[in-house]
Formats: sequence, structure tokens, C-alpha cells
Amino acid sequence: MPTAVSPLASASLLVAVIGAGASGLVAARELRREGHRVVVFERGDQVGGTWIYSPKVESDLLGTNPDRAVVHSSLYQSLRTNLPRELMGFQDYPFVKREGDGRDGRRFPGHKEVLMYLQDFATEFGINELVRFETEVVSAKLVEGGKWKLTSKGRSGDRVEEIYDALVVCNGHYTQPRIADIPGIKVWPGKQMHSHNYRTPDRFQDQVVVVIGYGPSAVDIYIEVSGVAKEVHVAARSVADDKLGKLPGFKNVWLHSMIDSVHEDGRVVFNDGNAVYADVILHCTGYEHYFPFLETNGAVTVDDHCVEPLYKHVFPPALTPSLSFVGIPVKNVPFLMAELQSKWIAGILSNRIALPSKEEMMEDVKALYSSLETSGTPKRFAHHLAEGQQLPYNNWLAAQCGVPPVGEWRPKMYMAAAEGRALQPSTYRDNWEHDDLVLEAQKDFSRYL
Ligand code: FAD
Repeated sequence: MPTAVSPLASASLLVAVIGAGASGLVAARELRREGHRVVVFERGDQVGGTWIYSPKVESDLLGTNPDRAVVHSSLYQSLRTNLPRELMGFQDYPFVKREGDGRDGRRFPGHKEVLMYLQDFATEFGINELVRFETEVVSAKLVEGGKWKLTSKGRSGDRVEEIYDALVVCNGHYTQPRIADIPGIKVWPGKQMHSHNYRTPDRFQDQVVVVIGYGPSAVDIYIEVSGVAKEVHVAARSVADDKLGKLPGFKNVWLHSMIDSVHEDGRVVFNDGNAVYADVILHCTGYEHYFPFLETNGAVTVDDHCVEPLYKHVFPPALTPSLSFVGIPVKNVPFLMAELQSKWIAGILSNRIALPSKEEMMEDVKALYSSLETSGTPKRFAHHLAEGQQLPYNNWLAAQCGVPPVGEWRPKMYMAAAEGRALQPSTYRDNWEHDDLVLEAQKDFSRYL
């Protein structure tokens, strides 16, 4: 049971939220509902974060140059959601079909529809007026009294310093590419890019392309690229041996084990012994957590894809409750999770909900790491909610906040979508067969609509 009450907690705090994507929008709403004063910093010129598609790509297609001009979103032009819309909305503001010009009523809509939904949400709850657009937080520094000195840079380029009681970090984690480490890559003569900079398949016309990765984006991208490329070779880490080889349903796509090495003559050699001469390697290898603005005197670090230490993936025990992170876990539904995490943070900051002692929180974090070690799971999966963990995690948050548990149709629908994606990657979005789950979702939504 939560026991300790932070000396910082009070009825109404001045809280800075970094980012106006899905997480920052719902954090702002929950904080304000709880009576806090909220300023949202957003370096872009509109709300929506990841869901603001840009045809621009970065100058460095691998995204490794820290001085490059960053394009925030990693969306490609053709992207449709990989989850049914019923799962994607906030709990009390369901993502239902809307009539109107340019609206996309499909169960797995295109990215523009998600952006419109987030814009609707921001308008409905009056969040836009809390946001300082085109204002980047360049430094957030812990100062005396556990407060935060924020330095932000606005349109004019002038820097502004302000003190906040608490900081909620919602800056997203799909912008800073993670690159595969490939023996021989320095002498390999081909081109490389990360999926962060993939927009359309045109540049791969008649080329031999190696795609590294087998996650949802990798699958969408190899399917799209196979329509124009000469050959596509997918290198995947965890695929059963009997699935390797030419992919059924495609005339020019092969599935391989991981890359063993690449060579000066252009060859890419896979662990299964096969080799191809390739023009391009496309890294669909995920993203790094990146907080270049955050100065915590070492209380929070990023190591091997983990933000640590974080109690329940949200609060660093040493800095509770003045610092929190929304949206870190993966293998969960992002919007609902952000909503529940935000309610929890808001309630803790107003002293309505209590946290355990710092020592107990650290013990909890250590228990997570030792359970990973016992099961032989690499540390980099610390923020992956294991199968079966999504509902308990969300319901643990709901219980802390005193709100009803999450509907059981949600993890079932999540699994149904994942299975569809695995079995029919090209068609699962238009062949949805789980109307029973949709009915359950609609029953749930009727409480809010
Ligand atoms: P973001 O949306 O990334 O928002 C972060 C915001 O912070 C941005 O607006 C950024 O400009 C701002 N920011 C960053 N740094 C600063 C700073 N220093 N100062 C000021 N502002 C700053 N989720 C689903 O539910 N369904 C899907 O189908 C799905 N598909 C996806 C496909 C792709 C290719 C990707 C990359 C992600 C996908 N996701 C999907 C996950 C998606 O990221 C989440 O749904 C959600 O948008 C995350 O929201 P967020 O607010 O945490 O982060």
C-alpha cells in the first residue's frame, strides 16, 4: 500500500509539461482537472507530435549526427494505424468514426485521422490555450527545493528561464534512431538509412534492399518497398528457422536471420549463410530514449534503452514526485496508458494519492531488474510489458487513481490485431473478424458518448 507523502505535494502546483503529443495533451488535461497550473512546451507549431506527418527527411538519413535539424515524426506517407481505432482512443474520449470532410472512418485509419482526433481532443478540453508553440525546452535543471529551472527557446530565439514546481516529460521516444551494429559496415559501399527517414518507396526503384527488423513499421515498409524494388531481403532477429526463405505471397521478398557481416564488394552475409549484393540497408531497428535537455545530477540515466531508475516506468524514486515521465512502456496501448499514468501523476502531485517511500520504490525497480535477469531477458526489454502484463499494469494504475478497471476486451483486441498482423501482414487492416470485441468496446464507450 502507498504510504509516504511527499513534502512537495500540495493542492495546486505550477507544472511544466514537455511535449504536446498524445501524452502531453492528456497529461495537461489531467493536471488541470486536478487543479494544477499547467504550461505545455511544444517545439512544433501544432499539437499531435508523432501524428504530424512531414514529407521532409533529415540531412543525415541514419539520424546519427547530433547537430542535424531534427524532424520529429517518423511517419511514412501511407501509414495506417496498426491498432483498431477502438483501442487507440483515450478511455473517456473514444476514437469513434466522425463524419466530415477528409475524415477516415476505417477501423485502422490513416495517420491524418489520428491527428484530427488529437486536435479534436485538444479543442474539446481547451488544451491549446495551455500550449506555448514553437518553444523548445533546451534545459530542465533540478534546483534547490526540488524545483525545476526550465530554459526555453521560442520563436524569436530568445531564451527564457522559469521555475516550476514539477516537470512532466512527454517528449516521445520515436525520433532518435537506434542503428544496428553490423560488422564491416565502415567499408560497405551501399547506402544506409533508418526508417525514421522513410516516407515513400520511390527511392528504392529497381534496387536490392535489405530491411533490418520485423516490427510493425518494418513489415509495412518491406511490403511497400517490394512493390518497386528488385529484391527485398528482411533480416530478423527472432524468427523460427522454418519461416526463413522466400515469403509466400511475394515474388521478390526473402526472410533471413540477422546479418552476420557486410563486405567491401557490396555483399551482405546473413547468419543463415545466405548472401546478397545489396544497394541499400534500411534500419527498422527502433529508437533510443533521448532527453538532451534533462539535468538531474545523475538521478536519472539512460542505459541500454532503459530510463532508470523509474518506479512503475513513471517516477524516478530520488526525485518523486517533482519529475515524472509519461508514455515510456511499450507493448501497451499508448493513449490509454498515457491517460492513466497522467491521472496518477496529477493525483500524486495534489497529494490525493500517496506514493510508497523512496526505498520501497527502489526495491520495486530492483525487483523488476532481477526478474528480467532470472528469466534471461536482456535489460533493454525493461520497458516492454511482457505478454499478459498490459491489463495488470493499466489496472494497477486505474486502482491507484480510484477509477474503474480497464475493459477486458482491450488486451483481447490488442492480441487479435497482433495476430492479424503476423498472419496476414498485407491485409489484416481490412479483414477484421472480431466484431464481438467491437461490440464490447461500443458498450464500454456508451458510458462516455
Ligand atoms: P510524441 O507524439 O512523439 O510527442 C512528443 C512531442 O514532444 C512532440 O510534439 C515534440 O515536438 C515535443 N518535444 C520533444 N522534445 C521537446 C522539447 N525539448 N521541447 C518542446 N517540445 C518537445 N501508436 C498507436 O497507438 N497506434 C499506432 O498505430 C501507432 N503507430 C505508430 C507508427 C510509427 C511509425 C510510430 C513512430 C509510432 C506509432 N505509434 C502508434 C506510437 C505513437 O508514438 C504513440 O501513439 C503516441 O503518438 C506517442 O505520443 P507522445 O506524446 O508520447 O510522443
